[in-house]
Amino acid sequence: MTAKEIRQAFFNFFESKQHHIVPSAPIVVKNDPTLMFTNAGMNQFKDLFLGEATIKYSRVADTQRCLRVSGKHNDLEEVGIDTYHHTMFEMLGNWSFGDPANPESGYFKKEAIAWSWELLTEVYKIPKDKIYVTYFEGDEKEGLEKDQEAFDFWKQYVDESHILPGNKKDNFWEMGETGPCGPCSEIHVDCRTDEEKTLVSGATLVNADHPQVIEVWNNVFMQFNRLKDGSLKSLPAKHVDTGMGFERLVRVLQGKSSNYDTDIFQPMIQFIAEKSGIKYGADEKTDIAMRVMADHIRAISFVIADGQLPSNNKAGYVIRRILRRAVRYAYTFLNFKEPFLNELVPKLAEQFKDVFDELSAQQDFVQKVVLEEEVSFLKTLRLGISRFNTYMDLSNDQRLTINDEDNTLEHFGIKDIYQKERFNNIINGNFAFELSDTFGFPIDLTELMAREKGWSVDLVAYEQALKKQKDDSRAATAIDTGDWVIVNADEQSEFVGYDDLEIETEIIKFRQV
Ligand code: ATP
Ligand code: MG
Ligand code: MG
Ligand code: MG
Repeated sequence: MTAKEIRQAFFNFFESKQHHIVPSAPIVVKNDPTLMFTNAGMNQFKDLFLGEATIKYSRVADTQRCLRVSGKHNDLEEVGIDTYHHTMFEMLGNWSFGDPANPESGYFKKEAIAWSWELLTEVYKIPKDKIYVTYFEGDEKEGLEKDQEAFDFWKQYVDESHILPGNKKDNFWEMGETGPCGPCSEIHVDCRTDEEKTLVSGATLVNADHPQVIEVWNNVFMQFNRLKDGSLKSLPAKHVDTGMGFERLVRVLQGKSSNYDTDIFQPMIQFIAEKSGIKYGADEKTDIAMRVMADHIRAISFVIADGQLPSNNKAGYVIRRILRRAVRYAYTFLNFKEPFLNELVPKLAEQFKDVFDELSAQQDFVQKVVLEEEVSFLKTLRLGISRFNTYMDLSNDQRLTINDEDNTLEHFGIKDIYQKERFNNIINGNFAFELSDTFGFPIDLTELMAREKGWSVDLVAYEQALKKQKDDSRAATAIDTGDWVIVNADEQSEFVGYDDLEIETEIIKFRQV
């Protein structure tokens, strides 16, 4: 099956179970202070779960474009290195919104489990013995019971040795400190070869680290309401909330050992390979770079198409960081010294026609924005990389001067200790700050480059340098404000001339599927 057919089969299946297919919400969240980007299918239905919106359809299914690069779910560091976490991915989902006035309209564990099984084994024909499922094992301390119901329903289809208990962290979902919550049940597919299987025993594998045992689907059963005093009350209307990783599903069904080997990513990867003159599969480093580019362009393009331009703060900076990360991989490992990333936009727009039309509708605009970003970043990237390499070639003594211009450490006789502690494979915070301030290197880019050399970055010192610059800028504006000197820095209105590189941490109040 092609990816397109697999997606369509999902819709057809749930349509046949009386689900209404709804469009994806935008990836950029504009009106929710708790969330910057959509990171799960359930986000757009939050108000329904909270009982704050009217239920229009009690059964719904869709594919939601999601982004997991900030806040509670941040998979960015994994992307490209592993082969199953993306920045932007599609989450297929089916929902039942229980209506207390009409309890028959929705469904719960029995149907959700039966349909997951039917879809995976009968429509998609995944061999039954490759499937492992999990259920909530209970938590005595929290007064939460084991999800016996889910266990019993699964037992009708799955051999007991493939039904594994999971703890509160993995198998109990809560929207926030209060509100709807309930146990969840995950579905994993064991794609290990026989040889790989002999290396580790099977039963412990679910939720473990073997890259060929893939979590594809999470079914959440909302059956409780957590009250302010911490106690749980049964919900009058129970809900089902599921999320299945589309790219992972396609990988499993196409029998590949990497999401990037599917027809979702291969056309893009082959295009990148052709243009760079390097074969995909030739070398791990260049492979990672190609995967990063093929992945990141999706996040970048959809975020821009959904209305968020790259900028120097908040959501805009998140996307600028991702773009710079991709440009830097392309530049360093694939020899793209001129803007190239933007050329991927039309290909992506074509690929997502009829799925997420938002991109093809704004293709030229998105491409232009990416091109402008590339041009401006490439200008300083070359200089920054050379500065970085010079720094790495310095001796510890020389590096110290970057941090200690007036030789205070020597003066106090602690230079040796300081060097040992601060310079053993650690990049100086002031230097990391210089890279970000002068060369536009996001801190995670510097960290990435450091990591490639087996180094880390002194983040505490970096934050200090950042703060110092901020304070200095504020002080400078305070002087300039005229007759008044603002005494309390906290009450000062924000200084807009300064590039705020900090990204506000999201307060994500709910765990999603
Ligand atoms: P993982 O443990 O692999 O990080 P998760 O438990 O964080 O996944 P959920 O929040 O349960 O993921 O999301 C539902 C489904 O979405 C997962 O079962 C998985 O198939 C898919 N998914 C989650 N994160 C990603 C990602 N970064 N890229 C691609 N698919 C993902
Ligand atoms: Mg995760
Ligand atoms: Mg998981
Ligand atoms: Mg999960």
